[in-house]
Amino acid sequence: MKNLLYFCRCKVMRGFGRGSKQLSIPTANFPEQVVDNLPSDVSIGIYYGLEASVGTGEVHKMVVSIGWNPYYKNMKKSIETHIMHTFKEDFYGEILNVAIAGYLRPEKNFDSLESLISAIQGDIEEAKK
Ligand code: ADP
Ligand code: MG
Repeated sequence: MKNLLYFCRCKVMRGFGRGSKQLSIPTANFPEQVVDNLPSDVSIGIYYGLEASVGTGEVHKMVVSIGWNPYYKNMKKSIETHIMHTFKEDFYGEILNVAIAGYLRPEKNFDSLESLISAIQGDIEEAKK
């Protein structure tokens, strides 16, 4: 990705429900049309940036994964955003606004759920900086 912010604004869809349940790291999923319309210079990987909640005007840091989640062998590419904020409720169907600011690392596979979780926690710490 070049040094430009890339904005995504769309409704939050239901995914496989794995983020919260298995990893304790919920990831809000964008619908397929957002994934299909990514510019070709946005490569697969993990990115950091900001999320703006329209309702409250609050801005939070976030990490976003663009790819196939090799650990889960997904067949379809996805864009999943974890926001560094504790929300009182889920926000399925609401509009999520993200500004992707920079690249953290390529997507990779992990041999255990524990190593996947610690990689994501490392991404979150990097994104906060
Ligand atoms: P799904 O597979 O449906 O995406 P997850 O287990 O990944 O399920 O949970 C994601 C959902 O959790 C989001 O769609 C959103 O409604 C909710 N959520 C609550 N807190 C957060 C957060 N901090 N970051 C991202 N999503 C969150
Ligand atoms: Mg998710």
